[in-house]
Amino acid sequence: MSENNLLSSLFRKEVLAMSAYKVADATGLIKLDAMENPYSWPEDIKKDWLEALKDCPLNRYPDPEARHLTATIKRLNNIPDQFDVLLGNGSDEIIQLLLMALPSDACVLAPDPGFVMYKQLSLCLGYHAIPLLEGSFDLDLPAMLDAIERHQPSVIFLAYPNNPTGNLFSEASVLDIIKAAKGLVVIDEAYAPFADASFIDSLGQYDNLLVMRTVSKLGLAGLRLGYIAGTPDLIEQLDKIRLPYNINILTQVSANFALSNKVLFDRQTQQICAERSIVFQRLNELSGITAYPSAANFILFKTPENRANEIFDSIKQQGVLIKNLSAQGGLLADCLRVTIGKPEENAAFLAALTNSLNTLF
Ligand code: PMP
Repeated sequence: MSENNLLSSLFRKEVLAMSAYKVADATGLIKLDAMENPYSWPEDIKKDWLEALKDCPLNRYPDPEARHLTATIKRLNNIPDQFDVLLGNGSDEIIQLLLMALPSDACVLAPDPGFVMYKQLSLCLGYHAIPLLEGSFDLDLPAMLDAIERHQPSVIFLAYPNNPTGNLFSEASVLDIIKAAKGLVVIDEAYAPFADASFIDSLGQYDNLLVMRTVSKLGLAGLRLGYIAGTPDLIEQLDKIRLPYNINILTQVSANFALSNKVLFDRQTQQICAERSIVFQRLNELSGITAYPSAANFILFKTPENRANEIFDSIKQQGVLIKNLSAQGGLLADCLRVTIGKPEENAAFLAALTNSLNTLF
């Protein structure tokens, strides 16, 4: 049997047709591509953290329920007692778990542009992407309601704020969607720390609502820890297909330690939000650039027509890695996305962009 025949006899055609999610190599570059918090910890906190890790029993499996960490997360997020929380190896894993639990004829609905993993992980399920409104990137409520009626999706994903556009959708539209949906609505609050807005308080009002968060954007991307809150009935189903011990002991102990120092992250979040205003203003002062308002730790911006690739490459050659989204076309045509870094990193990015605009035009 030839290699190709072997592959096609073994794997689903959807898997054969897809491409792996590849992450650009940032070696030697200022890394402003992945919505990470740019700040590391002060030395005294690092020391205490290593102290906390010192007695981790690596010869034993971790607590399968990660009870201590789950309690910390519930408390810090003000998740009422009557709701359960499931932890994942990043919120990516939770998206995967949720989609794995659906019947094979189920379909998923999400706005477009949206977070790429919703589609990537929907694999063999139906997937409907509903364009956001041009200009505002808000939800097209009539189109969403129509799609709900026609496709009866088992799950609707709404990132709040949205990635890669950075905006918060209209709260009233989100609520109308939750009310109209017969299936689940996952409000993905990955960027909540920068937004001061959340649907956690709505959990009690809608049985089909799940709120998902991550510690990645807060400053703990390396730990791989996401979580989802919902009614015990819903969380119980996800828990059945969760791998045992999916949160390793180093993550459990480190996250507990880090979250007990949450004031540090709150301070860093404030710095990032203050820098976001500066970068937004500077971007919009550049001729040919339109930056879109953001409630997250990144900014989407439009470049002159058909020049995004050149501008992206030129910025990279000057030592700064951002994200080129222009190949996705549609509302993202000519668009690049920059994560907010430290003041000096943002300044380097703005200088590189200014320089590339001056040389290219
Ligand atoms: N949701 C959204 C909207 C995201 O942008 C991301 C990461 N880029 C994630 C979820 C996944 O986060 P993680 O797996 O790091 O928890």
